[in-house]
Amino acid sequence: MTDPTLDTLLAAAWAEDGSVTPPIVQTSLFTFPNYAAFEDRMTGRSGGPIYTRVTNPTVAAFEALMAQAEGGDAAVGFASGMAAISGTVLAFVRPGDRIACVEHVYPDAYRFCERMLRPFGVEVSYHPVKAFEHDPELLAGVRLAYLESPNSVVFQPMNLPRVADHARRHGCLTVIDNSWATSVFQNPLRLGIDVVLHSASKYIGGHSDVVAGVVVSSQAHIDAIRGLTLPLLGAKLAPAEAFLLTRGLRTLPVRMRAHQATADLFVDRLAGLPGVVRVNAPGPNVVPGLTGRSGLLSVEFDGSVDIPRLCDGLSLFHLGVSWGGFESLVMPVRAALASGPEHNAAHRFGVSAQVVRLSLGLETADDLWADFAGAVTSARV
Ligand SMILES: *Cc1c(COP(=O)(O)O)cnc(C)c1O
Repeated sequence: MTDPTLDTLLAAAWAEDGSVTPPIVQTSLFTFPNYAAFEDRMTGRSGGPIYTRVTNPTVAAFEALMAQAEGGDAAVGFASGMAAISGTVLAFVRPGDRIACVEHVYPDAYRFCERMLRPFGVEVSYHPVKAFEHDPELLAGVRLAYLESPNSVVFQPMNLPRVADHARRHGCLTVIDNSWATSVFQNPLRLGIDVVLHSASKYIGGHSDVVAGVVVSSQAHIDAIRGLTLPLLGAKLAPAEAFLLTRGLRTLPVRMRAHQATADLFVDRLAGLPGVVRVNAPGPNVVPGLTGRSGLLSVEFDGSVDIPRLCDGLSLFHLGVSWGGFESLVMPVRAALASGPEHNAAHRFGVSAQVVRLSLGLETADDLWADFAGAVTSARV
């Protein structure tokens, strides 16, 4: 047989004891029949779990599937996407090191850099996508490049093979948040990026019922995280959440194709909708290695559209943060800006209050379009 497709790989049955799904091993610790077995496990001579803060079979089953999906050696689960981000960065960065971060990064990743890393003596600078692509010296002397492609809210895609090349020449570790594209539409490890992480709360979980994160990389990098920040910060993935994430992964390719079809319809029709200034929704092949368009996009309106009235006129789209679930959501940037300029990444990088982010769910695309276009029309002043 040739290499299985991602659909086939993710649908593989667990098949131990005839069960097609892994069991939820809801235990905090594991016991041993005798001293020799205990010492073997404690010293690492025998592999396997000791304590669920570090390893658990249900979590390991999710990690193994995730590593295969991203094309990495190994993966490590975390309690949230933010735990995956902080756990990864803190495993590789020391006081005095420099981080180069992409502009329009996820706002809490920005706050982590500003409010935690900077006071601990890590220097963080922010650069546009184009600077990462076109300035081969940008990463000279930089310990870690923190990337998103596309980045948050404005969804600018990045040429990852080129940036990975620049980084490699300077010995700079590259870390990317791949939550938007998922393993279905982009595999950064195969494009030369060192470490891939996800907020599994989004498309991987896919059902808006889990907050979790995961990191995929080489065995050495995952060992470094598992040996340091996973046990010492302690933000581990729980067995019950890991079970739900494995369930989410089974249908990830099917769901991503459905999200993409709806996003394609929106991108097509938004171009002709009065009041629309810009649509931020990168599609397949706008950069090397990006093979699809997810259901998360943003739309900038001119002053003729009243944003609060638009939000209140929607019935299928709900107001809320997060994204990647079955339900459609609208997130008006105006509300984020209203929460104050301090530590607000949208302020820092300049995003218009006339931008709304849409997470297109699994409802019928024509129903969603009718709801959205109707609300825009009645929100024009
Ligand atoms: C939501 C999100 C995160 C944070 O993930 P949590 O699971 O909420 O901690 C990180 N990156 C991106 C791009 C996100 O959208």
